[in-house]
Amino acid sequence: MAAKFLATDQLVPWLAELNGKYRTLVPMREGDAVVFSPFQESVAPVLEVRPTAAPRGSVFPQCDPLLTFEYKKDPEQPAKVMVEVTERRDDTPAVVVGGRPCDAAGFNTFDRVYETDTIKDLNYLARRENTLFVSLICTKPATTCFCNWVGGGPADPVGSDVQMIPVNGGWLLESVTDRGEAMLNEGSLPDGADKSAEAGSVKDAANAAMGEAQDVSAAKDKLLELFDDADFWEAQSAKCISCGTCTYLCPTCYCFNITDEKFGMKGVRLRTWDNCMSSQFTMEASGHNPRPTKAHRLKNRVGHKFSYYPSLHGDNIACVGCGRCIKSCPASVDIRAIVLNAIAAPAPQEG
Ligand code: SF4
Ligand code: SF4
Repeated sequence: MAAKFLATDQLVPWLAELNGKYRTLVPMREGDAVVFSPFQESVAPVLEVRPTAAPRGSVFPQCDPLLTFEYKKDPEQPAKVMVEVTERRDDTPAVVVGGRPCDAAGFNTFDRVYETDTIKDLNYLARRENTLFVSLICTKPATTCFCNWVGGGPADPVGSDVQMIPVNGGWLLESVTDRGEAMLNEGSLPDGADKSAEAGSVKDAANAAMGEAQDVSAAKDKLLELFDDADFWEAQSAKCISCGTCTYLCPTCYCFNITDEKFGMKGVRLRTWDNCMSSQFTMEASGHNPRPTKAHRLKNRVGHKFSYYPSLHGDNIACVGCGRCIKSCPASVDIRAIVLNAIAAPAPQEG
């Protein structure tokens, strides 16, 4: 394991050094929000507040050109049209600095879907395999944080390549993976082994600062039991205005849509994030919509994360407890309360 010390005044020079080798994404202020953007030497990254949006786009961009195509006519046979397709795959080495442990863990949710025995999403994997995560541990959990309910923690290393632990005068950077170790060893930061004990105490304090975890293991079966309880779901979704904020900020939402944009004889195939809280998400060409109300859609969002996904993927919950959907929901819908309400709800009456 590599351990390097990053002094506070060396943060920007270190990021500039990284930026020479990797596409470097850091949290930056954009209006009222803090979002992951390409590093700029003249703009200080924002590490003191939790980023508004997860760094999902670093591996799974909001709009990703998968391929370009061009129709070509055969001058000898005008009725014959060929299509030339050029795949696009981005494997630029990248590093995301300043995400939180829950953000890094979020990509494990994607991995179980985009790389299976039968499915390999090559565009996703190209970025995933070439992107490193340097995660800043959370020393002050927000009231909306609940990572410890869903198997994580404010200093959990799962999903990170390097952990960044605040210590006196800066941060200790500790490698978690081999590629994180290689990244630290190829840089010019001084050894930080003498800060390890202090960093260990900071991690212990971070874990202790989390409130007591609630046991949500019963949610998997209980949400299925409540599947047809329309009254329950109407009550839970009463405040929702179907804005979709929760899905766009979430580090574990992976649904997408595919569209072709044509310009004359040329075009591009785009993959864009989709939003299951929108009525358009399941609208069929016939006009039928199997999830016509916000109650159906919220049931699907919560059910997917806490029941359907765990059923398919070894009991892993598709929520890392980052709390963004709670913090930024304009109607104060709280996914924790919905899960606890479901667990506490009486079993629906037969018949
Ligand atoms: S952010 Fe809140 S109001 Fe908007 S769709 Fe999600 S739950 Fe509904
Ligand atoms: S569902 Fe909410 S709390 Fe869970 S990972 Fe997504 S945004 Fe975070």
